[in-house]
Amino acid sequence: MSTVSKLAQFGKKHIAKGIGRSTELVIERAKGTYVYSVEGKKYLDLTTGIGVTNTGHCHPTVVKAVQDQAANLAHGQVNIFFQKPMLDLIEGLLPRMPSPKLDTFFFWNSGSEAVEAAVKIARHATKKQNIIVFQGSYHGRTFGTMALTTSKTIYSAGFSPLMPGVHVTPYPYFQQWAAHKADPKQFDADWVGEEALHQLELCLKQRSDPRDTAAILIEPVQGEGGYVVPPKNFLAGLRKICDKHNILLICDEVQSGFGRTGKMFAVEHFNVVPDILVMAKGIASGYPISAVVSRKEIMDTQPPGSMGGTYSGNAISCAAANATLQVFDDEDLLKNCNVRSEQFFKGLREKLPELLPEGVTCDIRGKGLMIGIEFMGVPTGFANSIAAEAFKLDTIILTTSIYETLRLIPPLNITEDETKLALERVTASVAAAVE
Ligand code: PMP
Repeated sequence: MSTVSKLAQFGKKHIAKGIGRSTELVIERAKGTYVYSVEGKKYLDLTTGIGVTNTGHCHPTVVKAVQDQAANLAHGQVNIFFQKPMLDLIEGLLPRMPSPKLDTFFFWNSGSEAVEAAVKIARHATKKQNIIVFQGSYHGRTFGTMALTTSKTIYSAGFSPLMPGVHVTPYPYFQQWAAHKADPKQFDADWVGEEALHQLELCLKQRSDPRDTAAILIEPVQGEGGYVVPPKNFLAGLRKICDKHNILLICDEVQSGFGRTGKMFAVEHFNVVPDILVMAKGIASGYPISAVVSRKEIMDTQPPGSMGGTYSGNAISCAAANATLQVFDDEDLLKNCNVRSEQFFKGLREKLPELLPEGVTCDIRGKGLMIGIEFMGVPTGFANSIAAEAFKLDTIILTTSIYETLRLIPPLNITEDETKLALERVTASVAAAVE
């Protein structure tokens, strides 16, 4: 057995099976848009570790900041000190928030923990219990977030009883709603948005009375549910319903935030300001940190001591986040994201449809470099077979959702040539899977 397969076997033996894994690749280093296996083989990484290394792997600015910080202060426990890198981070984040009203922060380690913190804050601030979530959402795998995640049953099956007080309402998923209509042309995306708002109103009348509903929790662009962009009118409608009923709007931007959609936060595409915004992943280019931000009057309803944790807002992660923001400015990452996004969408829309056999169609959608490609009229497993073909071409791509959907999540500083290569390889993989 080769050393590489021995290492993979060792991993399989000693790492919990419950962690599903899309490849058996053993990697030991990464740089920019590429990861390198222990054999030194180079793979084009169109996953960024699921929207995390938005500045590319091991960006020199981030590496330097982490090295310097490690030599100065690794741990400044938040329940004991204010630590400088966290204060710097808040200063860097404040002007990038969708509204100056979002001015009070709490830092955690992971996206799931931050979502749970947002729910705690909403419950305490409103003195109400229920949370309404959307069909197809992913908010995490921890005990609290399992109850909020509705993208696949694998995340919660067998772990009941789950946190109570969670109600589910449909997300305006045009493509899937259309797939179940005799004539999809009978309705348009706006109608889907209005109907989803109507279903939410019904939920508030029939299942979770506004007097019991603390918050509505939504991904402004749905991630694990299939890279679904809601219709234009939807989030503004949601904001109105929340205001009318005195319900807090929590936006989970763990995946869609930090420039992923071409704006710092996806809510900015819809001109909506949430009451609570949750962020993680892209915030620190691979270092574990997440954040919840809200208005001071909401955040400060939490009694001192009820929030915090050993590694909450770790100093090295804060330094990595500060360096990440620096890279956003130095390299104008938002601009590059939008330019490369156009290149991706143009290339995919020109090339993919013509490869598909009769009866098969695809919906190429998303915003910025959060790109989903859903195939209709294909057998189950088709998207996985495309990812397997891509792997043969030394390219890592992920699938998503319960439908046959690929997702492309390259770094925001991907170059023109790398985008060209990515397009060639994705196209070749689809062609090979179709054969
Ligand atoms: N919310 C969203 C929208 C996510 O995409 C994820 C992770 N995929 C999470 C929450 C959970 O984040 P973490 O894995 O860091 O706990």
